[in-house]
Amino acid sequence: MRSILRLVALSLAFGPFACAVDERSVDTGNVVEPYGGDSPPGGNGMASLPNAPAPSSSNDESPNNESPGNPSPSNGSPDGNNSEAPPVVQLPPAEPPALPAEPGEVTEPESGEVPAPPPEEPPVVAGPVVPPSDLPPAGDAGVPEPAGAAANLRVLDWAGFEAAISYTFDDSNQSQIDHYAELQALGVPLTFYLQTNKQQNMSPVWMQAVRDGHELGNHTQSHQSTGANIGADTDTATNFIQSRFGVTVYTMAAPNGSTAYSAIAQTRFLINRGVNDQRIAPNDNTDPFNLPCFIPPTNASTAMFNAKVDAIRNTGTWQTVLVHGFPGSNDGAFQPVDINQFTAGVRYAKGFGDVWIDTVVSVAAYWRAQKTFTSVTPATANGVTTWSWRLPDHFPPGQYLRVTVDGGTLRQGDASLAWDDHGYYEVSLDLGTLTLSP
Ligand SMILES: [Zn+2]
Repeated sequence: MRSILRLVALSLAFGPFACAVDERSVDTGNVVEPYGGDSPPGGNGMASLPNAPAPSSSNDESPNNESPGNPSPSNGSPDGNNSEAPPVVQLPPAEPPALPAEPGEVTEPESGEVPAPPPEEPPVVAGPVVPPSDLPPAGDAGVPEPAGAAANLRVLDWAGFEAAISYTFDDSNQSQIDHYAELQALGVPLTFYLQTNKQQNMSPVWMQAVRDGHELGNHTQSHQSTGANIGADTDTATNFIQSRFGVTVYTMAAPNGSTAYSAIAQTRFLINRGVNDQRIAPNDNTDPFNLPCFIPPTNASTAMFNAKVDAIRNTGTWQTVLVHGFPGSNDGAFQPVDINQFTAGVRYAKGFGDVWIDTVVSVAAYWRAQKTFTSVTPATANGVTTWSWRLPDHFPPGQYLRVTVDGGTLRQGDASLAWDDHGYYEVSLDLGTLTLSP
């Protein structure tokens, strides 16, 4: 409810598109402001960088080498930069049950009335506090609530957008830091996969990225393709990111796209981004631990980025894109691309208004949850249909699916779901159950 009101307010202020795309990014005005004085949780400043060797000047990632990252901390920066107050669930006051007459008590039957029975509904109990959905609004407002039969529940692909795209950046390269202001100015959530043995990780830009709603993911400590210690090397990177930036790491990108990380990722993450270029479809059998990715060639043109956007819009799919860096910073970024060619491609995607541009963790959570939900066989009793699910391991909290029905009432716990007039109900995945009744 809060989120809907908030979104409506934003829509009024900025128009539906600006709202859709910029809703989660913090104002671009304070872009590269150093987090002066704010020590990240657990961080002791520069001295705390584990095993920081000299900046590795280049990662010769073979063309097929990167993997997906972790859940974007897009819901709120750790320092509370988000002006929104913590969500508060206000439950209606419980109505005192009508007391039946006590035995022996003389009551006056009023014209045949029997004492009111206790309420049929279960008592209201304080459930888990679920934060509002952080998904950007999809589609136009003004869609009437379905009024037909309580049937035909379906999950909207890509949160109601036509397609999805995630832009990712690997290797903690200096040129990403140097161009952070231009990246942030795009007004879309991005994913940065940090290689944590580089001095560039000490840049205040990464904490700013967290505050701005971007995702920090795991690209391991030392970027090995194979080896007996790659699991520990992965964990070292996770520990660094979590302690220094105060975020939970939900996704990783395998160095050089090495499939040796598939098994490692399955016990630690929601997603591991690989490097084979394919599109990902709703409910398909794409391996979440070797997620496909497009790596543009050196000096790729805007037309090449645009072509990927056209393809996902034509097929209703999700594309991840991996850029290592940009020329000019002498950081040895693999296959660098011109910053202006790249940003023009992102703006092309944004300009349609029907492409969900978000972090790997946000889109991946939706994609994996949709597949989980779709595989559930609901139970039906007394006209009420109930879905119950168990989320995949390492699933981020506070995620939602958008659904619609022919009609009826959708409930989670004691609350009936509110219709969003963009054309959907939002189902909290944390609650694990959903009912549809007439
Ligand atoms: Zn890499």
